[in-house]
Amino acid sequence: MELLSENARKILQERYLIKDAAGRSKETPEELLLRVAKTVAQAEKKYGSQQGVEKWEREFFGMMSNLDFLPNSTTLMNAGTGYGQLSSCFVLPVKDSLSGIFQTLRLAALVQQKGGGTGFNFSELRPSGDHISQSGGQSSGPVSFIRVFDFAAEHIRQGGKRRGANMGILNVDHPDIFEFIRLRTEGKRLKNFNLSVGISDSFMKALEANADWNLINPRTGKSVRMVKSGVLWSELCEQAWLSGNPGLIFLDTINAANPVISIGEIAATNPCGEVPLLPNESCNLGSINLTKFVKTVEAERTELDWKKLGETVEKSIRFLDNVLDINKFPSESISKASLANRKIGLGVMGWAELLIRLGIPYASVDAISLAERLMSFIQEKSLKASSRLGIERGSFPNWEKSVFFPDQPMRNATRTSIAPTGTISILADTSSSVEPLFALAFQRKNVLNGETLQTINPLFLEMLKSERLAEGKILDQVISSGTCTHIKELPGKFRELFRTALEISPEWHLRHQIAFQKFTDNAVSKTVNLPSDSTIGDVDQLYRQAWELGAKGITVFRNEAGDQQLLYRGIKS
Ligand code: ADP
Repeated sequence: MELLSENARKILQERYLIKDAAGRSKETPEELLLRVAKTVAQAEKKYGSQQGVEKWEREFFGMMSNLDFLPNSTTLMNAGTGYGQLSSCFVLPVKDSLSGIFQTLRLAALVQQKGGGTGFNFSELRPSGDHISQSGGQSSGPVSFIRVFDFAAEHIRQGGKRRGANMGILNVDHPDIFEFIRLRTEGKRLKNFNLSVGISDSFMKALEANADWNLINPRTGKSVRMVKSGVLWSELCEQAWLSGNPGLIFLDTINAANPVISIGEIAATNPCGEVPLLPNESCNLGSINLTKFVKTVEAERTELDWKKLGETVEKSIRFLDNVLDINKFPSESISKASLANRKIGLGVMGWAELLIRLGIPYASVDAISLAERLMSFIQEKSLKASSRLGIERGSFPNWEKSVFFPDQPMRNATRTSIAPTGTISILADTSSSVEPLFALAFQRKNVLNGETLQTINPLFLEMLKSERLAEGKILDQVISSGTCTHIKELPGKFRELFRTALEISPEWHLRHQIAFQKFTDNAVSKTVNLPSDSTIGDVDQLYRQAWELGAKGITVFRNEAGDQQLLYRGIKS
């Protein structure tokens, strides 16, 4: 595994390699990947011969050790260890009763203990101050229960591997919506929750017409208050501008693409938003490292290796489908819901780096057309691969109730999803997900031990060398600012290619999200970065545009706005 960078080794050592009681690693990075490949290939036994197991073990090991593909962190951590929870993403239902709420909290604790992230929609809970018949008292409402969940997550350190990640959602017609919107900036700080407002098309239409909007008590189904849609919206945009929260999830857009709508409507996503799921469903993810699919066709000219990409997509879909069969789910309810639809999410990482290698600036129409071409290719190949697996292994159990019935066999109700790849992109030593480069030099804070890892983008160094540019003076400037757009010694094209997230306008961020979303079954996790001088009006405009253009959700992040910025531009000595 000479391909592994120093940062990758550090992370593997700290969190992924199996350790003995004294904290010494019991495996090398190669052995880790072999453990994962062997375990995932075991699923072949259920469907075929021992020969299949060996063949797929080799194939899976090959694509992981080459860093062409990596599964989500939980699979790397847990496969073959006896813990066996391999999915990163869960959605749990929250019912309107004290025992229901605490049953869910218990389950969330079990999921988080093994490294999974949980999403919840709290909208079924009666509002604060509402009547409780059993005690004759008054309910404390969804917002206070979110605080309980946050407090619990803080104390579940997930076996020292990760702190809890949660998504808390409240629908825009809930009477406690104003309190929810202010949750991130008022009172004690929430540490482990992303917040999103569940938005309906009818709200967006009310907003366009500047109409009144009813807040409805979910217990009685009756309106308790009317508010101006514009007032609610302005408050929401202001809070997002201040803290990056809440984001939005567009529930009607999500359900229009729900392949098993007859089973139920989707009300929530996992923590980073890339997987809308039914209550109790989970989803396991994996991502293709796009930088491994560039080939040189003539001296100097590079293009995408579509053939190799197609083959890797097919193998990755098989890998992720296998993971479902060897997964040990944390409860019977989660096992039942997850295996009924067999959802998986194949995505990409290294998109920004790929564009640089192909000489295409991120903020350009060429990048957007390549994004669409690339993701439609991956989506089509994923669909075909899952359909073939449907013939080979049988379609997912709810298939007869799905949009695929009766014409197309299908193994997995969904197949693609663009995850943030926060950790696995560091393991693969590439840019994360479909995000632009955040900075050319940065320090990354390890949330667990507070240590900082320092990095200068290796691709930047490589390209400087190949262009025979004088390194010394340029690097000093890059190190102090994290960017190169102001460095006059660099050719214009070079500066254009290496533009960083904050030097790319929010519109271009959104256009990339939409281009990938068009061809992704689940959703796209994307942060739209806003410069620090952007206004509440900018957030307002972006949020509206996101809905109009068909995003399933949106999150903005204003530079230096929030309190959880883990990446710092420039290395400060
Ligand atoms: P990775 O790179 O570690 O595989 P991602 O950054 O792609 O993970 O995140 C994928 C999903 O994993 C998230 O949407 C979330 O559901 C879950 N996840 C990420 N970080 C955490 C965390 N610290 N704790 C629990 N779940 C997490």
